[in-house]
Amino acid sequence: MTFRPAEIWVERGVEESRVARETRSRCSGAPVRSFADGELPPPASFAEAKTALVLRRHRGGFLQHCPAGTAGMVCCNYLVVNFASNCPYDCSYCFLQDYLADNPRLTAFTNVEDGLDEIAGVLDMHPHKQFRIGTGELADSLALDPVTGLSRLLVPFFAARDNAVLELKTKSACVADLLDLEPRGRVVVSWSLNPDSVAAEEYGTASIAERLSAASRVLAAGYKVAFHLDPIVEHEGWQEAYDRLLDDVFEAVDVAAIAWFSLGALRMTPGLQRAVRARALPARHALGAELVPGADGKMRVWRGLRVRMYRHLVERIRAAAPRAPLYLCMETPGVWQKAMREVPTDRELGIRIAAGARW
Ligand code: SF4
Repeated sequence: MTFRPAEIWVERGVEESRVARETRSRCSGAPVRSFADGELPPPASFAEAKTALVLRRHRGGFLQHCPAGTAGMVCCNYLVVNFASNCPYDCSYCFLQDYLADNPRLTAFTNVEDGLDEIAGVLDMHPHKQFRIGTGELADSLALDPVTGLSRLLVPFFAARDNAVLELKTKSACVADLLDLEPRGRVVVSWSLNPDSVAAEEYGTASIAERLSAASRVLAAGYKVAFHLDPIVEHEGWQEAYDRLLDDVFEAVDVAAIAWFSLGALRMTPGLQRAVRARALPARHALGAELVPGADGKMRVWRGLRVRMYRHLVERIRAAAPRAPLYLCMETPGVWQKAMREVPTDRELGIRIAAGARW
């Protein structure tokens, strides 16, 4: 589904920003309303917050360390930059249902140039360090691209840099704006994937076949691709379902062009479970698993089952794509040791992924 906003709210003073002009021109039929800071009416519900698009300035810094890197977990030294907040899609397990509960309006920030200046300052200050920077933390990186055309600013910016890679992480097939740009090896487009039965709870997203078709198109246009099997959901027949999914991936793309894989088991918090239960969305996979709390406050399936799932997937991926970097997201050193047979330091892991090296 390509998102089209039911209405557009524009903060006073940003009407002539590039993002606001582009959005108005790409959504010419949508009603446009104006608001001053503090005057935006709250949406009737979390679902309604996803139907209109707010365009406003971002206050404060854009760039931050990935919040997934909590103490006690192996971290991949990833940076996130937030050019948007919330997402037009509605995955049953999405942590934004809890994280953005008090501020859920779907928002694209208009002062993108300030964010790029901030990134340029950090990259220039550390010319010998390699950075991986993603836009898919509080939003899907490409779901709003048909509306804002943001990738037309981001791809040339990163293509001109030698010490950073931009990751655009998505569950969409919104790649049209990418295809005539020159990424110069500096942009990785990545897809979160799940078997069709789990992806059926990723409401509004592109089908898995559409995501893989988009991956083959961006590959042909010169981008690197990556895949996140995350959240891995244990369900009846999970081994066969994930095997079929990986077969489809390896049939769709040249394994030599895969920048990395990540694996991450389903993670929920009590707050997220409450938020999901309070909504009417069918959420069998988000709420059906038996989860136990971990040291970081998140609940996952018990450790033995996680290790079994990871080992199965690691073996399948290593057999088909032996050179592709592969890492676990938000996992403990103990699980890393059992599933991956090693525990890299955070620094080592970040360097290896950025360099495209397997181990
Ligand atoms: S695509 Fe990502 S950000 Fe959007 S609803 Fe799904 S999990 Fe949340």
